[in-house]
Amino acid sequence: MASNPETSLVDLRSDTVTQPTLAMRDAMSAAPLGDDVFGDDPTVNALQTTLAGQLGFEAALFVPTGTQSNLCAIMAHCQRGDEYIVGQMQHAYRWEGGGAAVLGSVQPQPLEHQADGMLALADIEAAIKPDDPHFARTRLLALENTLGGKLLPFDQVLAATQLAQRRGLARHLDGARLFNAATAQAAASGDEVLHEARRIAGCFDSVSVCFSKGLGAPVGSVLCGPRDFIQRAHRIRKMVGGGMRQAGVLAAAALFALENHVDRLAEDHAHARRLADGLAGIEGLNVQTPQTNILFVELTGAARERSAELLAHLKAHGVLALGLYQLRFVTHLDVDAAGIDRAIAAVRSFFKP
Ligand SMILES: *Cc1c(COP(=O)(O)O)cnc(C)c1O
Repeated sequence: MASNPETSLVDLRSDTVTQPTLAMRDAMSAAPLGDDVFGDDPTVNALQTTLAGQLGFEAALFVPTGTQSNLCAIMAHCQRGDEYIVGQMQHAYRWEGGGAAVLGSVQPQPLEHQADGMLALADIEAAIKPDDPHFARTRLLALENTLGGKLLPFDQVLAATQLAQRRGLARHLDGARLFNAATAQAAASGDEVLHEARRIAGCFDSVSVCFSKGLGAPVGSVLCGPRDFIQRAHRIRKMVGGGMRQAGVLAAAALFALENHVDRLAEDHAHARRLADGLAGIEGLNVQTPQTNILFVELTGAARERSAELLAHLKAHGVLALGLYQLRFVTHLDVDAAGIDRAIAAVRSFFKP
């Protein structure tokens, strides 16, 4: 897969666009397989055991997507007529087709986020309904970390999840980018990434991790939790059509990512900062400070109406991004420093032809 650096695309639309590396493909092709619906795919079992062990959970379940993982989690925590407290911008509320309500008869109670991405303790407290037949039964608090590339402040995650526990709610983390969160937290604390991942996960009863984002696998998420919870999630996964047979060929990619791609997430974060630094000072752009691998750039003044034109200009220069008044650039393992510099040059040439 040789690529010409001058003509290959710098695809910053999302960290889902990565191609499996040759080494990952080798691991996939060498993986021992079985029928996972019978529970005998050794590679799926190894992935589940490995991640559960790393994050400090009893059990885990490999699922095709993060959406299905969140759905299985919400349905395994909640019954029909229950509700879950969730942020307005979280994937498990906004971007999953209303699945928990449609398929689980579980009502969302969305809350506004604070500037740092967290839900305010007072808002969570106020959203917990009394035991009264007028109300749905508040059963679950769901958070997402990272959220829009933001690392949730750990002390607030701890306080919110302790509040939920005190009030008898279960706690689920959409940790699609848990390892990005752990990488940013580790950079601040000096601790190991895995230690930080375990510290964040330890605040929750269940955690979902995506392998098809920055970790670079083609497909798959893993839901972790207590054994009885994972048994319920397993039944729900079957019900929504997520039981897969020789799924070890996919789990092998996720296992490979766990072993080889966690440590390099810091590079993606450095690339996002490099991009932010390179775009700083351009008139018409308000460049945010990225905490992880996602950079938002707001178009201001006269540039505000020019996003379509800018995206087309970038595309003509081999750089892909997404957005409207706010552009989104996401770094990942298929973008190197040279690609970032090409993106910077392409944006600069739009504003100063
Ligand atoms: C991508 C993502 C998911 C799930 O995505 P799938 O495309 O269904 O795998 C869930 N939560 C967050 C925060 C995500 O970014």
